[in-house]
Amino acid sequence: APGLEEQQNHQGGHQNLQQSLAIYKDILETKEPEPTKEQQNQVGRHQEIGHKSLLQSDALYQYILETSVYPGEPEPMKELRELTANHPWNIMTTSADEGQFLSMLLKLINAKNTMEIGVYTGYSLLATALALPDDGKILAMDINRENYELGLPVIEKAGVAHKIDFREGPALPVLDQLIQDGKYHGTFDFIFVDADKDNYLNYHKRTIELVKVGGLIGYDNTLWNGSVAAPPDAPLRKYVRFYLDYVLEFNKAIAADPRVEICQLPVGDGITLCRRIS
Ligand code: SAM
Ligand code: CA
Repeated sequence: APGLEEQQNHQGGHQNLQQSLAIYKDILETKEPEPTKEQQNQVGRHQEIGHKSLLQSDALYQYILETSVYPGEPEPMKELRELTANHPWNIMTTSADEGQFLSMLLKLINAKNTMEIGVYTGYSLLATALALPDDGKILAMDINRENYELGLPVIEKAGVAHKIDFREGPALPVLDQLIQDGKYHGTFDFIFVDADKDNYLNYHKRTIELVKVGGLIGYDNTLWNGSVAAPPDAPLRKYVRFYLDYVLEFNKAIAADPRVEICQLPVGDGITLCRRIS
């Protein structure tokens, strides 16, 4: 029988839905102090929280975007990126270079049946939808439908909305349903996990059963703004500190899981690719 923790997880993680939403709102809407003059003067320091790169300098990251990413970015992705830039929670969006990476990866593995946990306004979802064949499928989940609907007109205009099955609500119960159903075991070519970091291990327990042997799971933000290697007294933003221990725990556990072969990539905020081997 499931223990208390499991029962709580069925309601959508360590918190129930209302608590999840409240925590998100609080974390995302809390004004952080401006960096001090001294911090601003540090050479090469990324000034913005949620900077979309762990590279050595902002200039190098800008170079990559301008030279190799933006010129080939599909028009609808550009439109969705610009639309999202005006949203108050835009810090959550997938960066353009990571979108490009996901698109290439999905084509290389010939992905057809995929899942996304954590949609927000849909930048990674659109990257996926554009990369899949016309009969490809994405089961997409988010507790927030409003943000998904913000990006939906762009996805529709791009002619790829028919590939998406969006489910509003916490992802864990949906995953449990799929597992209970039986016929979804080992059926997904690719699963992108980009939602509540405190549930990554709970997601992994389920996604590992649902992904094909030889298929891929991508866990996003596993370098957590660089905080995974920050000194203990480093000043961290509230939401970074809030999830840090969960990310650290997840990274250790996934590296020790014999069912997967992993690759930690410093793309975006860090993505851990897991290939299911058994
Ligand atoms: N992949 C998205 C993109 O490219 O813009 C970014 C996703 S954002 C980092 C995380 C999302 O996870 C938020 O939209 C949030 O509402 C959602 N989320 C948080 N807790 C969740 C849960 N328990 N189940 C499903 N989605 C959840
Ligand atoms: Ca992310």
